[in-house]
Amino acid sequence: MHSRLLFLLVAFLATIIALDAVRRHQGALAPRPAPTVFDSKTASPAPPPTLETRLGPSPAINQVTAGTPTLDLMARLAVRRRLEREGALVYLDSLFAKTDSVVVRWPDPGDSPLTIAFVPDTTIPGWSDAVFDDLRAGIAAWGGNSAGLRFREVAASDSADIKVRWTLAFPDSTRLGLTVLNWSPDGTVHGADITLAYLEGGAKRVPLSVSDRRRVAAHELGHAIGLPHSAERDDLMFPNATTSAPSRRDQATLQLLYAVPPGSIRVSQ
Ligand SMILES: [Zn+2]
Repeated sequence: MHSRLLFLLVAFLATIIALDAVRRHQGALAPRPAPTVFDSKTASPAPPPTLETRLGPSPAINQVTAGTPTLDLMARLAVRRRLEREGALVYLDSLFAKTDSVVVRWPDPGDSPLTIAFVPDTTIPGWSDAVFDDLRAGIAAWGGNSAGLRFREVAASDSADIKVRWTLAFPDSTRLGLTVLNWSPDGTVHGADITLAYLEGGAKRVPLSVSDRRRVAAHELGHAIGLPHSAERDDLMFPNATTSAPSRRDQATLQLLYAVPPGSIRVSQ
């Protein structure tokens, strides 16, 4: 009788170990999340590319498949409670809609600034390095931000955290900027690619004005540091932003994003 009980116990433990091994194997095979794309595409049919509509709503949806949550259940519940408490004042909801409830952000800044490389495209007719100054102005708009993120311009684009390129114009002429955020299943961002339009949208084929270039650069850098779109017109992260500096709400959203750890906040599968 005693040995029978022992046998059952051993069999039970063996089953648990086997199931755990299967679960770990499946975890190891979990696909990496697709990059999150923040674009500025307007809904079709495209309206005339006026100042207000060129930074249109962002319909890009990225399907994020099973990640590997790094936060344990209690930590996730704590983050959820904090987001519920403070979330009404900010706009992180639109981030979770894109990431399937994963807090996606850069690692804590510490002492190292995010490096930004400018990648010119001298094949663009009439190319002028003056666009660099407009990009620098867009970066400066986030100086002293609420998350303590700092930026450093670097020459080597291969190793830069954020790469900025230009294109003559997007196929959809109503689009002026596009940011692709690359992140790991644990919610940690490891790279951002910004593309900026050189020409105004529409048939005019003239370079974007300085003020437009600065506004688009500041808006796309907001995406590159993890911010989603805001529904409030006064915010820089509003899709049709009219300002070129972050609002208090933009800063509050950024602050909350970096006050919680990256990772899934889902409490059920
Ligand atoms: Zn945007």
